[in-house]
Amino acid sequence: MKSRRLIPLAVALALAAIPAAPAHAGPETAAGSTATEPFCARHKCIALTFDDGPAEYTGTLLKVLKKYNAKATFFMIGNRVRKHPKLAAQVAKAGHEIGNHTYDHKYLTELEYREIYTQVQKAQQIIRKATGKRPVVFRAPGGLYNAGVLDVVGKFGMVQVPGTVATKDYVKDYRKVGLLTRRALEVAGPGEIVLMHETVKETVQSLPAVLERLSKQGYRFVTVSTLMEGEEVTPGQVYPPRPQVVG
Ligand SMILES: [Zn+2]
Repeated sequence: MKSRRLIPLAVALALAAIPAAPAHAGPETAAGSTATEPFCARHKCIALTFDDGPAEYTGTLLKVLKKYNAKATFFMIGNRVRKHPKLAAQVAKAGHEIGNHTYDHKYLTELEYREIYTQVQKAQQIIRKATGKRPVVFRAPGGLYNAGVLDVVGKFGMVQVPGTVATKDYVKDYRKVGLLTRRALEVAGPGEIVLMHETVKETVQSLPAVLERLSKQGYRFVTVSTLMEGEEVTPGQVYPPRPQVVG
């Protein structure tokens, strides 16, 4: 095994760090809390994730998230970031995390190793160019990955994050605002990573009600990296290392 794969993600994160406020910066951390415990050890955290952008509704989504002081993770497609670099930069500037979702959303288990590498590398370069940040989280399209995919993901210092629960907004029949709102509230739980799509209008429309309700339940909306803080995470692993609902 190559030694670089043994670098703990915490180190990788530190190396990738940009001199900006931490993703979870809120009134408490901004006040200079001396607590050394990870944010999510002290709070009821949930990580909302939005795939396939930047897209038509990215701007709307950012406004809703801001209103609820929510941070999220956006798994972006490289060729879409290339088309909309300013949107990607806007997302990053707002304190959200950007994850790598390949260059053009190919199902990686159907590709040769070299092609997998190119898919990941191209997206990584484009996202970094647009946002100044190097993604440390990756999501394989369709939740499809194998040992080769994890090897490549590890080489780029990332972890594969399939998502632990999903609203299933990728199912056409589920695309109703009321239903997606209900689904999000049903699957929500402390420490869950919720898979959604920013390309689905009804998902974006359901978000105000979802955020309102979960806020009242005491949830803090954090990025995947914030969720991982304090855990031993190694590049190339699947996070979290337990069975996941994937889409
Ligand atoms: Zn996708």
